[in-house]
Amino acid sequence: MTTRRAFVRHTVAGGALLGLRPSALEALGDHPVTDAAPAVDYYAKLGVPKIINAAGTYTYLTASVMPAAVQAAVAMAANHPVRLRDLQSAAGAYIAQRLHCESALISSGAAAALSLGTAGCLTVGNPDASKDVPARAGTLKNEVILQHGHRFPHDHALEMCGTKLIEVETLAEYEQAFTPRTGMAFFFNAAEIGQISHEDWIRVAHAHSVPCFIDAAADVPPIANLWNYTQMGFDLVTFSGGKGIRGPQNAGLLLGRTDLIAAAAANDNPNDRSVGRGMKVAKEQIIGMVAALDWLLEQTDEGIESEARHRTDRIVAAIRDLPSLTTEILIPPVANHVPHLMIRYDQQRIGITPTDVAIALRQGTPSIEVNPGTGQPSGASGLHSDANTIVIGPWMMQPGEDAIVGRRLHEVLSGAVRTHS
Ligand SMILES: *Cc1c(COP(=O)(O)O)cnc(C)c1O
Repeated sequence: MTTRRAFVRHTVAGGALLGLRPSALEALGDHPVTDAAPAVDYYAKLGVPKIINAAGTYTYLTASVMPAAVQAAVAMAANHPVRLRDLQSAAGAYIAQRLHCESALISSGAAAALSLGTAGCLTVGNPDASKDVPARAGTLKNEVILQHGHRFPHDHALEMCGTKLIEVETLAEYEQAFTPRTGMAFFFNAAEIGQISHEDWIRVAHAHSVPCFIDAAADVPPIANLWNYTQMGFDLVTFSGGKGIRGPQNAGLLLGRTDLIAAAAANDNPNDRSVGRGMKVAKEQIIGMVAALDWLLEQTDEGIESEARHRTDRIVAAIRDLPSLTTEILIPPVANHVPHLMIRYDQQRIGITPTDVAIALRQGTPSIEVNPGTGQPSGASGLHSDANTIVIGPWMMQPGEDAIVGRRLHEVLSGAVRTHS
């Protein structure tokens, strides 16, 4: 421990890296704080390659990088213990006010919010029932209705609360599916299949007094989606904190009705007898999530889109002299709703498959990850690629990395050009 003055002296250089002025460090408060040690590059120490993320907000690539202001807020939070319940409730109230909804809870990610929201629907009005999730969920209203086309890998987060998923396809089937055991109606916003609209989904569920929960995890931008779905009438909405919001990767949002958010919180840590006990969100991530929302609400959809377009423009400029090559900008309709670059060419002229281009970029220095839709017959999340497409997701790159991606793409593709047939 050291004094504030010594802390300020020791951390002016670090603060400058984060864009803080010394006066901002002075404002951290009068408490003694832990001495700031010089940062060790633990990635280098562990031998873990740093990558250029030309893919997007994928969990297996550590999703987004937090903006400098968010990183600074996380670092500040790390210096001070607080009461976790005080922090969760103050952060929730602040977020609810900024996102125009009744209540909010910060979870350890959208997947955790799916579980907490589900557990909340099963136990609403009966906090003591939290101890029964999932082992005795059969004693609760544990049926969850969803459209067949809305089944997706993350519905495991609903099932881990001991629910039974009831699939429907038509509106008539949906209306028939409600029983005294129905606890929740679930909607996957980015689903590409499903004939029942958002409005009908809400209307029918509410006619049976059943809460509706929508997963919109990857559906920012547009920024207004942060309030569009609660205002549409969904009782619970989740977003991932570490995707387009650019908060900590292990943070997420559960937004919605006050009684359901309170019930979700009763199923969350720090309560030991709860399904969410292992879904802890530390003070650093809670503050990081709040700071990321403050950051995002200062951005514009146009600004986010035009930055992505500038990056794709620079990559296209670097490779456009290659024979037979064509490019297209594609904006997926719901999830990852930002410009993506689709690169195609005649493999008779450039003799390498997109999959092998992805491998060459991964094995190069620096190591580059392109979008996993590359070379796939049907790319994920509205990115309809094919076996002959390289897909670049530009929005999670750091400034200047587009030039490196353009140069490496040119090296790999030009190295495979067939000079005569
Ligand atoms: C990413 C994602 C999740 C999980 O989000 P985390 O914040 O990583 O837990 C859930 N649902 C959908 C639709 C997603 O895209």
